[in-house]
Amino acid sequence: MATIKAIEGRSVHQIQSGQVIVDLNSVVKELVENSLDAGATSIEVRFKNQGLDSIEVQDNGKGIPPDDFDTVALKHHTSKLSRYEDLTSLDTFGFRGEALSSLCALSKFHILTARAEDGAVGKKLDFEVSGKLKSIGVSAAQRGTTVTVDELFYNLPVRRKELEKNIKREYGKVLSLLNAYACISVGVRFTVSNHMPKGKKVVAFSTKSNTTTKENIVNVFGAKMLLSLMKLDLHLDMSPSNGPGTQGARNWATQATDRSMEVQVQGHISRPVFGEGRQAPDRQMFFVNSRPCQLPPVSKAINEVYKSFNVSQSAFIFANLIMDTHAYDVNVSPDKRTIMLHDQTALLESLKSALTEMFDQTDHTVPQSTL
Ligand code: ADP
Ligand code: MG
Repeated sequence: MATIKAIEGRSVHQIQSGQVIVDLNSVVKELVENSLDAGATSIEVRFKNQGLDSIEVQDNGKGIPPDDFDTVALKHHTSKLSRYEDLTSLDTFGFRGEALSSLCALSKFHILTARAEDGAVGKKLDFEVSGKLKSIGVSAAQRGTTVTVDELFYNLPVRRKELEKNIKREYGKVLSLLNAYACISVGVRFTVSNHMPKGKKVVAFSTKSNTTTKENIVNVFGAKMLLSLMKLDLHLDMSPSNGPGTQGARNWATQATDRSMEVQVQGHISRPVFGEGRQAPDRQMFFVNSRPCQLPPVSKAINEVYKSFNVSQSAFIFANLIMDTHAYDVNVSPDKRTIMLHDQTALLESLKSALTEMFDQTDHTVPQSTL
């Protein structure tokens, strides 16, 4: 008798969803990115009990058209990408159509949405665990979309227990992630709040509709931060004839012959002087083309150079790497936070020498704002 059988559809859905939505961070990241993709200029993130009871993201974006209600939460249904080839020219955060369907499988989930032409009348959408639309209700709503995720992992008891156990740490990580989105998103107002069961609603932080990342940083971290920061504006050219890492640069050249091999590193960093750094590396944000992501090798390189100037403190780092979309791959991990950079070695070498040169030229005695 054959022993290999197909896994039941419902179980496959739950397994796959658990890989897209792994923790509190992935829920918030997916919802905030959807709001940004919808062109929102105001995003409010509301937690209840640090996210254990509820996570709600409200935006004033374009809303969801009624024709899309049936498919909005179905797996691999997206309005953003239809062919794999489109990935390289991607200018949206989302592209896999997995977030909402996964949230249906792992939480008590609903959407309230209204477009400009709907007046103040919104549609409340409820879904089956599979992502199939269950019912449409009517409710008062401004233009935009509110997604509510209640009782995350209620149907996965082991994960739910883990989440409850680690909720303080998870919530801390989520605030750091939201800091990154709020700082990079120029022209978008962010408000993040938490409501504990017996407490009051507390605003964790908020930004205004600022025109620069510098103003966003002040809103999030306070004006004092400005004094210790200097502007980061490095131009890295990794053409074969240029600078260090020529071996790596050649690899890059073969991978993307006619592509630009230039990377701009823009942002803000603590002055490399004792007293201007921080006790812990708790405020370090990295972006590729304004997409918040984890870049451990880049982080390590910048920290190494900083430590060679300020041995006992860590830097505040806000670093946005601007580069050709062919020079990296966002489709590495299900949560899209890990980005693979092609020819990383040449990039890191070039970054380290440019940063060292910049720090060498910094006035190491008198602290001053160079922003
Ligand atoms: P993806 O973002 O990869 O397309 P999602 O599951 O996150 O997949 O979302 C599915 C679709 O739902 C999106 O392509 C978009 O059309 C719509 N959508 C999701 N969130 C919003 C929102 N906040 N505002 C408008 N449309 C949204
Ligand atoms: Mg999405």
